[in-house]
Amino acid sequence: MSSAGKSPWLLHYNASSCNGCDIEILAALTPLYDVERFGIINTGNPAHADIFVVTGSVNEQNKEVLKNLYDQIPEPKVVLAVGICASSGGVFRDCYNVSGGVDTIIPVDVYVPGCSVRPEALIEGVVKALGVLEEKRAAVDNGGLR
Ligand code: SF4
Repeated sequence: MSSAGKSPWLLHYNASSCNGCDIEILAALTPLYDVERFGIINTGNPAHADIFVVTGSVNEQNKEVLKNLYDQIPEPKVVLAVGICASSGGVFRDCYNVSGGVDTIIPVDVYVPGCSVRPEALIEGVVKALGVLEEKRAAVDNGGLR
């Protein structure tokens, strides 16, 4: 079955964010920035998602939740690490319980810089993610990715 033609749906998970990046994600969904103009819907169900947006660093309590959500998202999927905490652990990286960024647990396709991220940077990251998703969908359609 072809995977082409479906609008990309997004799942957001706050790993251990200070909420700064999460507020900017909400801002990107408002009419001012209107990320839905790319056909993107914010879903709460990982089984319906194509793009996994993660804020905050990885720690001992959330790493299993992060992996569990990732595993529930069907292939092909794209992961965005949003903000410096999700990218590397950020200001929390030396905390006793912090493992680091999202890529210590799951593969990351796009890193969005900032602390907090600006909505413009997030939208740029989403546009990059759409490109990666299209490449992965094409690979599935050609039998190259399962
Ligand atoms: S990158 Fe900055 S704003 Fe975003 S979760 Fe980390 S500390 Fe908060």
